[in-house]
Amino acid sequence: MENPLLDMPGLPPFGRIQAEHVEPAIDALLARNRARISDLTRGEEPPTWERFIEPLEMLGDTLERAWSPVGHLNAVMNSEALRAAHNACLPKLSAYGTELGQNRELFEGYRAVAAQEHLDATQRQLLNHALRDFHLSGVDLPPEKQARFKEIDQALAGLTAKFAENLLDATHAWSKHLTDEAALAGLPVSARALARQTATQRGEEGWVLTLDFPSYQPVMTYADDRELRQELYEAYVTRASELGPHGGQWDNGPLMEEILALRHEQARLLGFANYAERSLATKMAGTTDEVMGFLNDLADRVAAKAREELAEVRDFARSHNGATEIEPWDLAYYSEKLREQRYAITQEELRPHFPLDRVIEGLFAVLERLFDISIQEVQGVETWHPDVRFFEIRARNPQVSEAAATDKGSHDATVIHQARADEATHGIADSIPDKTAAGQGELRGQFYLDPFARPHKRGGAWMDVCVNRLHTATVDQIPCAYLVCNFTPPVDDQPSLLTHTEVLTLFHECGHGLHHLLTRVDYPAVGGISGVPWDAVELPSQFLENWCWERESLDLISGHVATGAPIPEELFQRLRAAKNFQSAMQMARQLEFALFDFRIHLEYDPARGGRIYEILEEVRDQVAPLKAPAFNRFAHGFSHIFAGGYAAGYYSYKWAEVLSADAFSLFEEKGILDTDTGRAFRQHILEQGGSRDAMELFVAFRGRKPTIDALLRHSGIAA
Ligand SMILES: [Zn+2]
Repeated sequence: MENPLLDMPGLPPFGRIQAEHVEPAIDALLARNRARISDLTRGEEPPTWERFIEPLEMLGDTLERAWSPVGHLNAVMNSEALRAAHNACLPKLSAYGTELGQNRELFEGYRAVAAQEHLDATQRQLLNHALRDFHLSGVDLPPEKQARFKEIDQALAGLTAKFAENLLDATHAWSKHLTDEAALAGLPVSARALARQTATQRGEEGWVLTLDFPSYQPVMTYADDRELRQELYEAYVTRASELGPHGGQWDNGPLMEEILALRHEQARLLGFANYAERSLATKMAGTTDEVMGFLNDLADRVAAKAREELAEVRDFARSHNGATEIEPWDLAYYSEKLREQRYAITQEELRPHFPLDRVIEGLFAVLERLFDISIQEVQGVETWHPDVRFFEIRARNPQVSEAAATDKGSHDATVIHQARADEATHGIADSIPDKTAAGQGELRGQFYLDPFARPHKRGGAWMDVCVNRLHTATVDQIPCAYLVCNFTPPVDDQPSLLTHTEVLTLFHECGHGLHHLLTRVDYPAVGGISGVPWDAVELPSQFLENWCWERESLDLISGHVATGAPIPEELFQRLRAAKNFQSAMQMARQLEFALFDFRIHLEYDPARGGRIYEILEEVRDQVAPLKAPAFNRFAHGFSHIFAGGYAAGYYSYKWAEVLSADAFSLFEEKGILDTDTGRAFRQHILEQGGSRDAMELFVAFRGRKPTIDALLRHSGIAA
C-alpha cells in the first residue's frame, strides 16, 4: 500500500492521508527507528556528534513529522476511524518513549559525546538536556533502586488516572432538575438553553443544571436565587471527597496521600530532597527558595489590594441588594453586578470593531514592524479544509542568508517546500523560486491558520508543530506550524467578527507560533519551543497579548465593520479600565493555588503525611481575602496537580506572566512599535528556543533579571 505518511518530502499531503495509513506508518517507523538505534548504539566506531546525535535527531524528526498531521487531523477533522487509528498508536508511541529514556546504551552514547571537545553551546545544551532527562527517568540508578523507580512510575500512572476518574464520576453524579423557570431568574439565555437541552437529552421536562463548568459557572455568576447558588457551590466544592451530597463515594483523599508519598519517594531515589526540587530540575526557576520567595513576595504585595476589592463588593452588595454578608457563593454574583454597573462593557459590544480580516492584517502589520519580518499569504497549498489559510514568513538577516546562499544542501530542502506550494498553485514545479526573494529576506517559516469553529473540530485555540527546523550538512528543513482557533464563522454576508478576548487569543497563539517559526537553532530537541522550560514557554505568547491593549496597535487591528473607523476613545478607555477589575483578587486566588501546590510537595514528610488541608488552611490565611467554609474540599478536585502535569509547577503561570510583563515594559520605555527593541526580542528570545538557559536569554534581552514591578503595574496593583 502506498502510504503518504511514509513519503513526505515536503508539507503533509492532507488530501491523501487516510485513517488506514496511520497505524502501518507508525508501526513501520517505530520498527525502523528501533533497528537504527540498535545499529547506532552497537556501532564499531565511537559515537560522535555527526555519527550518533545527528542521526538520532533525524530519526526523531521523521517520526514526529509523520505523527504531526495525524494528531492534528484528529483534533481538527475528527472521525471515528481516525480517532481509533490515532488512539491505537498512543500506547505504542509512549512505550517507545519510555524505552528510549530507559535505554542504557543510548545513555552511554550521549555521555560519550558530551565528554568530547569541539562542541558549540547549542550542542552542549542539547546533550545536557538529554543527560538530565535520562537521569530523571532513572536510567543510571542501581538495579534494585531502578526496579522500585519503575514500580512507582506505574503506581503513579494508575493513581493519577483514578483521581481524574473519581472527579469525573463525582461531577457527573450530581444534577438538579427544575420545573419552574422562575428558579433560573438572572441567567442569560445561553445558560437557560443549555439547561433546557440537558433536560431534553435526559428525556425530562424543564431544566437540568449540572456541575460541568458551562452549567455551574453561569449559575454562580448570574442566578438571582441565593439558595440555588449555595446548593451548587456546596456540591461543587465537595466533589470526590468525604463530604457533600455524594460524600465518600468517590473520595480522592487516600489517593492524594499516596500520590504525594510516591512522588516524594521517587524524587529521593533520584537524589532530590523532595518532589518540588525534582520539579525544578527542568524549569527556569533555580531553587525552591527562589520559587517560595517569588510567591510570598507577590502574595505580600497583593493581599491588601485584594481585601480592598472584596470590601468594594461587600459595600456594593449591602447598598444595592441589602445583603448582609458576602459568602463564597455570593462573590461571583455581586462582582458581576458591580462590573456591569461600573464599566457597562460586554464582549458582544466589541465585535463590530474587530472583523477577522482586519485583525489579521493588523496583527501582521504589528509583527512585521516589531520583528523586521514580512508575512505573505500563499494560495493553493493543500490543506484539510477550505477555510484554512497558509502563510510564509521571511526575515532580513544578512549574515545568515549569505551563509545559506552558499550552502547547497540548504537550498535544495527549501525547494521541496517551495515546489510543492508551486505545484499546488500552477500544477507545475518547473519554476523554482529563490529562497531569498528580492528585498523580502530569507524564507524562515510557514504556517496554516484554521480560524473557525466547525463540527468535528476540538474547541479552544492552540499552536502545534507541523515541521521542525532541522539543519545539518545534508538537510535544511524550514519550520512549519498550525495555528488553530475557534472563532465564529462568517454568517450570510456578515464577516467573522471577533470579541476582544478572541483577538487576545489570536495574538497569544501567534506568539507561540513565532517562537517555533523564527528559531535559528539547528536541532529540533532544543529548537523553537522544544527544550524551553515550562515556566518560560508562555513568555512569547503572553508577551504578544500586550499589543491588544495599546492605542497605537489597536488602531492597526481594529476597524468598524460598517465604517472602518478605529475604536472610539471612550470605548477604549472602558476596555482598559475593565481589564483590571478585581485583578488583585484573581491574582490572590492563583497564588493560593500555586503556594498550596508548591508547599505540599516541598514540605512533604513521610513521618507526618501530606498535611494537605493543614497547609491549604495556612495558605488561605496568608492570601485568600474571603475565607472558604470548613467543608470546602478544593484540593480533592485539583486535577492540575494530582492528575495533570502541573505538580509543584502551578507557579509557572505567574512566573511566565512576570517575564512577559517585564519584557513588554521595555517597549513601554522605548516605544510600543520600536523595531530595535523588537529585533532584540526576536534575536535573544524567539530565535534561540531552548538552546540556552532561559534566564540567560531573558537577561540578554532585558539587560537584567526579571522583576515583578511591571506585572503589578499592568494589573493595576501598584502604580
Ligand atoms: Zn499558551
